[in-house]
Amino acid sequence: MAKVYIGIGSNIGDRQGFIRRALKLMPDYGVYVEKVSEIIETPPYGYEEQPPFLNCVAEVVTFLPPLRLLKALQDIEHRLGRVRVIRWGPRTIDLDILFYDDLVVNTPALKIPHPDMGNRLFVLKPLAEIAPNMTHPVTGKTVSEMLRELEETPQRS
Ligand code: ADP
Ligand code: MG
Repeated sequence: MAKVYIGIGSNIGDRQGFIRRALKLMPDYGVYVEKVSEIIETPPYGYEEQPPFLNCVAEVVTFLPPLRLLKALQDIEHRLGRVRVIRWGPRTIDLDILFYDDLVVNTPALKIPHPDMGNRLFVLKPLAEIAPNMTHPVTGKTVSEMLRELEETPQRS
């Protein structure tokens, strides 16, 4: 079974409820949640004229290969009413694959590890809570090191 970290975000409506419902739907797809970080509130990223996000990270195990996992997560997004309007825009739920074991995938539809994770406190903070020693398969840095580096970089989100 693969161990996978999923970044979860919501900034419309009952944000906590959407996160809870997404986690509850995962086992229907063969995605078994083992740990969930605390939920933190963060200002919007990318496109700023939108409400603040709730974010957390889940550690899951699954037999689904990466692309099937992405489809499953997109199916959950659609079931929870996500409509794609603006990139980085408001959404009921966003489910991103951060790490999939130590696999590296680099296709247009799917990039693993998630390419932006090193710039996002709202990903690295909850990830560091549940997987501080997980190492990035390309850079070899641990999640704690990535978080420390981002926190030391001035003027970033
Ligand atoms: P974002 O998460 O950047 O706000 P979306 O959730 O709308 O944007 O995702 C845009 C596209 O990102 C998806 O259609 C998906 O194919 C692609 N994608 C690439 N890598 C990943 C990944 N690791 N996890 C989730 N989606 C990914
Ligand atoms: Mg996404």
